[in-house]
Amino acid sequence: MKKWPLKYQSAKIPKNGEPGSFWEDRGDRHHCGVDLYAPESSEVVSIEDGEVVEVEEMTSPEIVPHWNTTFHIIVRNDSGMFCKYGEVSENLVNKGDIIISGQLIGYVGKVLNQEKIDHSSPAYIQNLKARHPSMLHLELWKNNPITVHRQYLGGNWFAEEKPENLVDPTEYLRSIQDKM
Ligand SMILES: [Zn+2]
Repeated sequence: MKKWPLKYQSAKIPKNGEPGSFWEDRGDRHHCGVDLYAPESSEVVSIEDGEVVEVEEMTSPEIVPHWNTTFHIIVRNDSGMFCKYGEVSENLVNKGDIIISGQLIGYVGKVLNQEKIDHSSPAYIQNLKARHPSMLHLELWKNNPITVHRQYLGGNWFAEEKPENLVDPTEYLRSIQDKM
């Protein structure tokens, strides 16, 4: 039984083209996942049974000044795909852990440091400044999820062409939400 990834159930799945939607055009980059806007510290749970294959830092002020430090957790789901739970503040699992659907794995982080966002920040970031500084960034990969690549940074892809193993998670998430 798949579980909605947040205990905060009113998070909305952005529709195609909306802020935070999959492959949203952000000017010089495209969005690799969907953003589920949720209050900071909302509980993040695993959608499926699976194995934690990676836990790493995702953002930090050393990389981009308007970022706070957050982490990503990649789970190889038993159904075969890889889920990347991004922009979490604290991870409660480690690489190699076997987990079950609905298991608490972390908390939503506040990825954006509003004090550091100014006119030089990308437009989509300025739009999020007051409204949505915290979110779960969720990616879905068929195989070989990418976290380190010259065209990948902070959940965005700096090219027009989409990586072939990256999947749009919108329908996957909708199918879970329908069953809630
Ligand atoms: Zn995102």
